[in-house]
Amino acid sequence: MAGHESGYLKSSVKPAEAWTLLPSLALLHLCSPGGLRSRLSILMYHRVLPQPDPLFPGEGDVETFHVQIRNLAACFRIIPLLDAVRGLRQGKLPPRAACITFDDGYADNAEIALPILQKYGIPATFFVATGFLNGGRMWNDTVIELIRRAPGDILDLAKVGLGQFEIGTMPKRRQALHCVLGKLKYLPLDSRRSRVEAMRALIPVILPSNLMMTSEQISILHNAGMEIGGHTANHPILARMENDAARAEIADGKEMLEGIIRAPVRLFAYPNGKPGSDYLLDHVKMVKDLGFDAAVSTAHGAARMSSDVFQLPRFTPWDRGQLRFTLRMAQNMLGGVETV
Ligand SMILES: [Zn+2]
Repeated sequence: MAGHESGYLKSSVKPAEAWTLLPSLALLHLCSPGGLRSRLSILMYHRVLPQPDPLFPGEGDVETFHVQIRNLAACFRIIPLLDAVRGLRQGKLPPRAACITFDDGYADNAEIALPILQKYGIPATFFVATGFLNGGRMWNDTVIELIRRAPGDILDLAKVGLGQFEIGTMPKRRQALHCVLGKLKYLPLDSRRSRVEAMRALIPVILPSNLMMTSEQISILHNAGMEIGGHTANHPILARMENDAARAEIADGKEMLEGIIRAPVRLFAYPNGKPGSDYLLDHVKMVKDLGFDAAVSTAHGAARMSSDVFQLPRFTPWDRGQLRFTLRMAQNMLGGVETV
């Protein structure tokens, strides 16, 4: 609930360590004083890997996540997103309010992140794209896992219209991956699907089928007191679709999640989430009409009382040091917010 103070200062910080946190707490309190002048920081995560990935050095791993959650628990009041939205609307948010969210529905959220969140008594919201549950895989992960496993020094994707790449070293492989992902990202859904399928036919390797959550893992998160939010069925760029298809994507995802958790799904995250390019005002209206209470984008910044609760900004800091992390969070709170 909104008044709940994180237990970390009481339970995990040694007295000497607590003193070092005081400047951070003072700064964050100044930026986010609560009440009518509140600033709500909503953090966004995707995967929490069991170990660092050389192909994706920026992707968070369990150790970094653990340190971050410790820092967050020490410096912020982490509250459920629905409570935060209510508090924001009423001008009753506590100082240093923050929420934690995860996008897409990766199995490591349930396997790795959940136990850490539970250790610190921290709530989070998990936005799940339902089309990939139970053995599915998002298109970008198919591309990542194909290029990770592709044999040889040259990857020839000319037949798929994507060109030829050197993949003899890890940096080159990484570069090839970013290039291919960039070319595929904004293609229409069907054309992207057919190219990814053609890539699969060209690169004969076995791909993992356990990247995304099972329905049971969603129930486990829900039963652990975590919020489950909608993220469409197939994670399309809504702005690139016909309105009827976009509405069906949002509605289908919500309905399937409600069937799994047997409770209303009130929160939504726009796939990709950039206002004006990934979703438009039409989609904001759809989300309202379909019965959600609030939605999050991927615009940077912190929400304030005047923010549109159907376009709340989010932020991902992966800094490990307490000071850098605090400064980054403070800077984010002072920035403006982009909406459609
Ligand atoms: Zn997503």
